[in-house]
Amino acid sequence: MEEKVKEQNPAARPEETAAQMAGNFIHDEIEADLAAGHAQTVHTRFPPEPNGYLHIGHAKSICLNFGTAKKYQGLCNLRFDDTNPAKEEQEFMDAIKADVRWLGFDWQDRLFFASDYFEQIYQYAVELIKAGKAYVCELNADQMREHRGSIGQPATSPWRDRPIEESLDLFARMRAGEFADGQYTLRAKIDLASPNFVMRDPVIYRIQHGEHNRTGNDWCIYPMYDFAHPISDSLEGITHSICTMEFEIHRPLYDWVIANTSCPTKSRQIEFARLNLTHTVMSKRFLRRLVEEGHVRGWDDPRMPTLSGLRRRGYTPEAIRDFCERIGVAKAESMVDSALLEHCLREDLNTQADRVMCVLRPLKVVITNYPEDGREMLPIENNPEKPERGKRLLPFGREIYIEQDDFMEEPPKKFFRLKPGGEVRLKAAYIIKCEEVIKDEAGNIVELHCTYDPETISGGPSTKKVKATIHWVNAKECKTVEVRLYDYLFTADNPYDCPEGADFIDNLNPNSLEVLPDAKIEPIYVMPNERFQFLRHGYFCVDPDTENDHMVFNRIVSLKSSFKA
Ligand code: ATP
Ligand code: MG
Repeated sequence: MEEKVKEQNPAARPEETAAQMAGNFIHDEIEADLAAGHAQTVHTRFPPEPNGYLHIGHAKSICLNFGTAKKYQGLCNLRFDDTNPAKEEQEFMDAIKADVRWLGFDWQDRLFFASDYFEQIYQYAVELIKAGKAYVCELNADQMREHRGSIGQPATSPWRDRPIEESLDLFARMRAGEFADGQYTLRAKIDLASPNFVMRDPVIYRIQHGEHNRTGNDWCIYPMYDFAHPISDSLEGITHSICTMEFEIHRPLYDWVIANTSCPTKSRQIEFARLNLTHTVMSKRFLRRLVEEGHVRGWDDPRMPTLSGLRRRGYTPEAIRDFCERIGVAKAESMVDSALLEHCLREDLNTQADRVMCVLRPLKVVITNYPEDGREMLPIENNPEKPERGKRLLPFGREIYIEQDDFMEEPPKKFFRLKPGGEVRLKAAYIIKCEEVIKDEAGNIVELHCTYDPETISGGPSTKKVKATIHWVNAKECKTVEVRLYDYLFTADNPYDCPEGADFIDNLNPNSLEVLPDAKIEPIYVMPNERFQFLRHGYFCVDPDTENDHMVFNRIVSLKSSFKA
């Protein structure tokens, strides 16, 4: 079972800085390589397969690859691993580039495609055949499984001793398009008895007809990842090929390919544990299901752990980079608490976001002793954390809205907000007293009649004290907006944890989205993607669904942390 990474909670160890806490064994390895002269420079790459949108797990890899290059004054390439013609789509490539840039990284002129190397990779395969280190095989996928042996029992391979000339001829004809998908494969001749099944004569080329996004119909044979990746790394002069743990058992094959072909440079593969986050799924395969089955509104749904979803939700690149720094890099699998990501975000937004007042579920209040057409402008700070952000003026008037749950007709003892006969302070304005509760025929509260005490203006001389301050907006001078509140997409900490016969879809949180169509906000003008703190409610950002006369806000994160040390 995966364990929550409690010890990585920075809030729990305030005496240590995030940088000290976040161990990164890869940097230790690189420093050892540099010291021993195994490497003269540091050159990394981020190699996404363009078959989906990037998620927060990829952010860990991006920060690690680009961040490591930066730390050692090296270089980092962006390379699309586009060796699979059926799946690649331009839409994904464009989105991936936009996401990497948004995160704050720049590949400059080092954008590469594995497909650019198809001819070279093919030539290395020919080289292997000529050296008797690869052969054309006729087993189909099922037969290959039957021949793969078991622990302690070697695999068998009936075409292993095919003459070199024959393999060369067949491989050329595979390329020429003479055969159907799956009819032949090219296999590396390594070790049928290896305890590592990856080394039991792995397939390195397969036939696959179909148009490729970049090379069109030039090819109908494609190199497997295990063959294409080390060669691509070598051709680009990558010194450290950083990847996730599932490639650890492939490392001997990675090294074998580099050692047994004439590819130019030697690269070292280092594996680290992928990021898992509570209350979410991360694999593109599962994210794709959420999109295709309509459980979310798209790849950029603000509940998705995709970078485009987080961006739309209102996350800042700074918060995500900070998070990646704090979780560190290790080899052991772990499950990081989503609350840590939220903690990083709150820290960033607290200083960045200006405060505004927005009433999510409005209740009308008429201040009966305030002049009918009275109006005054009351000053309020934009950001108490940043006095230099100045103040703005709020229009106050006879009719205002307050939050429905800031009033209780029959409150419990410790309820200090508004109640019949009770008093409360309106933020930046006056103390009001509830005189009368107005109800409709069905008995629903529709309005409160209150009086205000003109002596109690905020910042004035009055020493009158009440126990609570609530937010409000002027009913005549507010805007009606749509507010979308989000909760975790999955109820379970680990969505994959489900009873037999069920799958992660059954763990979806039915209440992950709540739409409030009638929220009232003070009269502000907003910029696309602008972020605010709605007083007492949390951080919100302008959603792209916003149109001139219809503003839509996403709740990025609530104010209080549920993050426990
Ligand atoms: P997925 O399983 O989500 O489909 P992937 O590994 O197939 O991911 P790629 O496009 O091949 O996705 O990944 C590009 C890089 O990002 C790889 O080096 C991969 O190891 C890394 N990566 C993918 N998921 C994570 C994760 N959860 N944490 C850290 N790195 C990741
Ligand atoms: Mg993949």
